[in-house]
Amino acid sequence: MGKIENQEIINGEGYQLTRLDKAVGMARANSLWPLPFATSCCGIEFMATMGSSYDLARFGMERMSFSPRQADLLIVAGTISKKLGPILKQVYEQMSEPKWVLSVGACASSGGIFDTYSVLQGIDRIIPVDVYVPGCPPRPEQIIDGVMKINELVKHESLRRRYNDEYKHLMHDYNIELGEDE
Ligand code: SF4
Repeated sequence: MGKIENQEIINGEGYQLTRLDKAVGMARANSLWPLPFATSCCGIEFMATMGSSYDLARFGMERMSFSPRQADLLIVAGTISKKLGPILKQVYEQMSEPKWVLSVGACASSGGIFDTYSVLQGIDRIIPVDVYVPGCPPRPEQIIDGVMKINELVKHESLRRRYNDEYKHLMHDYNIELGEDE
C-alpha cells in the first residue's frame, strides 16, 4: 500500500490500481462543466477558444453550462462593473461544491485599464479565484493554458479540502455561506 501512496497508478497483469482521490480527481478534471460569465472583449476571445481551431472540447469541456447549479467551473471573461458584482457573486453561490474559478484577462483579474469608479478592480474582491489568465485580451492559447492549470488543481485536490478549516475560513472571509453538508 505504501507503494501506491507514491505513485499515481500501478499496472499489473489484468488490473490497474490507483487511489480513490486520484481516480475522482482524474474524472473531475476531464469532465468540467464551465459556466462562461462573459461580458466584453475577453468573452469574444473565449468564443474563439471554443471554436474548431482551438477546440476546448478536447479537454472534456464540450458542454457549456448556463445553469450555475450544474456547472463546476466559473469562467469570468471581461469587465465586471460594480453593479454586476452582486450578480456574479450570486451565480458563484448557486454553483455546488466542488467548484473552481478562472479569471480571464486583465479586466476580470484587476479591472484592467478601467481604473474608474464604476468598475470592480478584480473579481477576487468578491469571490475566490483559482487561476488568473493575464492579457488584454489573452489569446486562446493562454486561456487553454489557464484551463490546463485548473485541470491540474482539480486532479490533485484532496477529497477533504472543501471540509477543512482553511476552506471554511476562506469562504467566511468572502462572506459566503457553505451548505449544510460542507
Ligand atoms: S482585458 Fe482587455 S480585452 Fe479583456 S475585457 Fe478588458 S479591455 Fe477587453
